[in-house]
Amino acid sequence: MSIRQRLYPDPGQLAGLVEHCHHARFVFNIGLEQRSMWRRWKHDRGTHPEYGDLNAARITTASQMRELAQLRGELGWLRAGSSSVQQAALRDLDRAFQNFYAGRAKYPQFKRRSEREGSFVVRDLTVRRLNRKWGVVTVPKVGQVRFRISWMWADIERATSARVTHRNGRWHIAFTTPAAEKITAESGAVVGIDRGVANTLATSEGRMIQAPSLTDPEKTRFLRLQQRLARQQKGSKRRAQTLDRLATLRRRLGDRRTDWVEQTTTGLARTYDLIAVEDLRVQNMVKRPAPKPDPVHPGVFLPNGARAKAALNRAILASVWGRFLTRIEHKMPEGTVLRVDPKNTSRTCAACGHTAASNRESQAVFACQACGHQAHADTNAAVVILDRALGTTAPGHGVSGRRSPAFAGSANQPAA
Ligand SMILES: [Zn+2]
Repeated sequence: MSIRQRLYPDPGQLAGLVEHCHHARFVFNIGLEQRSMWRRWKHDRGTHPEYGDLNAARITTASQMRELAQLRGELGWLRAGSSSVQQAALRDLDRAFQNFYAGRAKYPQFKRRSEREGSFVVRDLTVRRLNRKWGVVTVPKVGQVRFRISWMWADIERATSARVTHRNGRWHIAFTTPAAEKITAESGAVVGIDRGVANTLATSEGRMIQAPSLTDPEKTRFLRLQQRLARQQKGSKRRAQTLDRLATLRRRLGDRRTDWVEQTTTGLARTYDLIAVEDLRVQNMVKRPAPKPDPVHPGVFLPNGARAKAALNRAILASVWGRFLTRIEHKMPEGTVLRVDPKNTSRTCAACGHTAASNRESQAVFACQACGHQAHADTNAAVVILDRALGTTAPGHGVSGRRSPAFAGSANQPAA
């Protein structure tokens, strides 16, 4: 994956970056010329076998690296540049040839000298976050260059190299991150996960996990700002200010949410070999959509209104859940996150399968009217979700065989 961010070098750093572009181009072109000559020589050798040992003269990235070192010894201006940037240019060239040999690209072209554009690669990347909006990347011989963060920091941080490009006075940096490695627990453990409002996630083993939200004062402020926004004139300065403040709250929530989702999904992927969740797409069909706040008549939201806050909370949780699903499916091997039909998961008894609305004694307590089984309502639902996944996907190890251990764990859990 490549993440492109805008780079903002200080005026004092510009010359150094331009130098790197020139050096990278010079080394790339010299290396390309050498390889092209060798290819011609190899071709000619077909008709003149007395030319000598082909392998001895073979050009590799390693041999070119050695020659680059010699060249640096001879050329002071090249020696003044960064060897890491220059070596990266040779690797760049090698990549271009590999793509050519694999039929993915045309024969590599010489790079033209230009003051208006250029690029070079930074390896052994070091990035640091300054604040929400800004990060710095360490460029050899130039120092820490600022860039604007517009992507998940967790992804940028994983980048192993980056290409700095310059075009018409604008600088960008494209971070290259390795494809996310799948996490395999190999524990044999399976889990069902129910999502809810009181507990963001409840596992079939009785664990409750809370996602961060806005604090109560933040929610009040958010709703007030929304109200204010509706009254303000489009294009006005005050409206722009309100939008700014709303954006600040959203970003704060977004950062919290991202951190939580990353930690939680990694933790679950390291623990379980199989995770069963409710299928959101089906959920949409089953549940009526929650009423949305009307921006034209913001009066429906009283600033401290419990209903407004509850609606906001649901909206926040919905966004957390969506992100959670995306990330857990990224991190776990294919086919190990199973989505099941969410219909009646909260009303079905995990012990006997009896389904009735009256099973749900309260928000938190599940008490089966048929067999008397009691459990935390969310835990019960998580067990039902797991059973559905196992019942439909692994007939041999179906509901009855697998339910007991997971269920025994959940039954001991206090219904709090
Ligand atoms: Zn029952």
